[in-house]
Amino acid sequence: MIQIPKGCKDVLPSQAYQWQYLEAKAREIAGAYAFKEIRTPVFEHTELFSRGVGDTTDIVNKEMYTFLDKGGRSVTLRPEGTAGVARAFLEHGLAGSALPFKAYYIISAFRYERPQAGRLREFHQFGCELYGAAGAAADAEVISLADAFLKSLGLKKVELRINSIGCKHCRARYHQALKEYFAPHIGEMCEDCRARFEKNPMRILDCKVEGCKKIAQGAPRMLDYLCDDCRAHFEQVKSLLTEAGIAYTVDASIVRGLDYYSRTVFEFVSDAAGAQGTVLGGGRYDTLLEQMDGKPVPAVGFAAGMERLLLVMEAENCMPPADTGAMCYLAGMDAPSREKAFLLAQKLRGEGISCETDLMDRSVKAQFKYADKTGARFVAVLGERELAEGAAEVKDLRTSASERVNFGELADYIKRRI
Ligand code: ATP
Ligand code: MG
Repeated sequence: MIQIPKGCKDVLPSQAYQWQYLEAKAREIAGAYAFKEIRTPVFEHTELFSRGVGDTTDIVNKEMYTFLDKGGRSVTLRPEGTAGVARAFLEHGLAGSALPFKAYYIISAFRYERPQAGRLREFHQFGCELYGAAGAAADAEVISLADAFLKSLGLKKVELRINSIGCKHCRARYHQALKEYFAPHIGEMCEDCRARFEKNPMRILDCKVEGCKKIAQGAPRMLDYLCDDCRAHFEQVKSLLTEAGIAYTVDASIVRGLDYYSRTVFEFVSDAAGAQGTVLGGGRYDTLLEQMDGKPVPAVGFAAGMERLLLVMEAENCMPPADTGAMCYLAGMDAPSREKAFLLAQKLRGEGISCETDLMDRSVKAQFKYADKTGARFVAVLGERELAEGAAEVKDLRTSASERVNFGELADYIKRRI
């Protein structure tokens, strides 16, 4: 038997309500902040990600699903959402539209990783992008949106950690300081970190190998190297968050996994999901659009991992109730009443009442059993007598009360009771 590829997950009809709930919350909160949805392709030219995400990142170095299409072009399944949105923004000349540009996406993303709880090869993200605003208020707005989204799910044990990684000017001095600090330890560090040491030493701070983590603990902090502008920006972000009643801790170890970040970076973290604690990560990326097009457009955004959110929701007991079956099951005793049930179901559906009838030629008893098992609310039984009378015996499975209801009044009867 052919099985699902490693690191992928099916969402069965019995679980889909959890995803629909999560997605509805995302849309609701994004809408409250006047962000509109954007949809971009699942695959893009490989170059978009190597240039946009950055070729010193884990994503570009080892996690991308890249292949040649039949025309010999190198394409890549999107490993994240920002690069595609940035491309669309530039391609459609949206810098000339009303700014700030505010968009959200709910997407699947693909990374060739070692699968474990909260780490998949196909996973899903809810993300937001805000382009055109350089000020601290934009950072605070995006963080506030993320915070409101997590709170709307009822999560209480997710913590916000923020940091500033400065701009290219102050970071140069910091890179120098990091290199001086790490140089004597280079022999004890993992192979990846040795490459990072040359290309982008800040990335060492993001390493998940225990030995490297330990060494990184004593490393210099970017916060001590911020230039005056970056420091003022960070101070303002913090004070806006405080004013908005959004609790945070400053965590100098947060650098984020992508190359394009500058100034503010943040993560929402939870212990509840096990080892993969970051449920949402984001920050400012003022150089990304410039890197792709030449014109600088300041940008800030985040992406939340939806599988990790579901794990945390489960652990914090925040799952919504499972959805129920049809509002009304129409059971038929014999051929004519089954036919009538089929027609009545059509009519009820037209009135906005979800309906099912028997498609399996089952006995009335078996039909009742099915209605009960699938969580139907009402069962209306039709037989010879009911057809003659033009009325059905309607049972409310929640209260077990039964009543005779004229066919023509079925819809109103049900609507009155729900
Ligand atoms: P990590 O450090 O856990 O690898 P990351 O820095 O690579 O995360 P981002 O690229 O910032 O993650 O993606 C944003 C969010 O998407 C993460 O915080 C996480 O919740 C989720 N995410 C990232 N990679 C995966 C994956 N392979 N499986 C499931 N969720 C993921
Ligand atoms: Mg990663």
